[in-house]
Amino acid sequence: METFRYSQARTVEGAVRSSGTFIAGGTTLVDLMKLDVMKPQTVVDINALPLDRIEPLPGGGLRIGAMVRNSDLANNDAVRQKYAVLSEALLSGASPQLRNMATTGGNLLQRTRCYYFRDINYPCNKRKPGSGCAALDGYNRIHAVLGGSEHCVATHPSDMAVAMMALEATVHTRGAKGERSIALDEFYLVPGSTPDRENVLVPGELITHVSLPAPASGTRSHYLKLRDRAQYEFALASAAAVVEVSGGKIQRARIALGGVGTKPWRSREAEQALQGQEANGSVFRKAADAAMDGAKPLANNGFKIELAKRAIVRALEVTTQTA
Ligand code: SF4
Repeated sequence: METFRYSQARTVEGAVRSSGTFIAGGTTLVDLMKLDVMKPQTVVDINALPLDRIEPLPGGGLRIGAMVRNSDLANNDAVRQKYAVLSEALLSGASPQLRNMATTGGNLLQRTRCYYFRDINYPCNKRKPGSGCAALDGYNRIHAVLGGSEHCVATHPSDMAVAMMALEATVHTRGAKGERSIALDEFYLVPGSTPDRENVLVPGELITHVSLPAPASGTRSHYLKLRDRAQYEFALASAAAVVEVSGGKIQRARIALGGVGTKPWRSREAEQALQGQEANGSVFRKAADAAMDGAKPLANNGFKIELAKRAIVRALEVTTQTA
């Protein structure tokens, strides 16, 4: 690890003025600094910022401060009752100790678990633009089948962000030019030719909170994560389903996928295939096929396509069983 300056921010304005790399729970940044993957010159500790509250919004939505710990969010009564998919996604991630440290803002900004990104002995366009991508011709079992490019095929690792994508969350920020509200679906970037740029934040811009809209009456939701072992493992494929069924028909569905895309992947194709249809296995399978229609497998990860389809079908079965 290289030497760096350390300071603490006491106010949001002070943090934005600091022009350093923010550290909250540190569950991503400290790892990557130890590996020499990230080498910030100045680390700004934002743990003292007053952004640790979960509050109801007028109209029935929820405001989640950027410093709310993952464990607190997962176990919040309003989240468990109205946004089950979010609680389930959070509890499927990491370990209890990590969830006690990791924050809402930090979780959104997790870096990929691509082995080559985390090992400075390999070329990686995300870590060092223009150096190449060791995963394309290397071992790519955990990599993306949706949204990849000839420059990068790394998956986004967050479970929480997948659930928030299906919940149509909005990210709120403060930067040198003021405040911004960004739909989560527009927050992340696919790698294209600039995989080092993962989201639309500009340097110094701080996530202050996330807002969730009120769920429509009768909405049910579920997060299903498939992985190599039952705990403390990242998704090979996951599905978040937020579904409103009445009269046996699907009135509204939001579907997002994890473990298969270069960003938390919302599937409008699956949503359209479900809209207005009966809630049954044949419809679910058509939606799953639509979701993965544009998938491009690499040498070692073709299995993810069928795995993701089965995750979608099962998440829909569970969601509609309880409706
Ligand atoms: Fe780097 Fe992306 Fe290639 Fe992994 S997939 S080595 S993160 S460029």
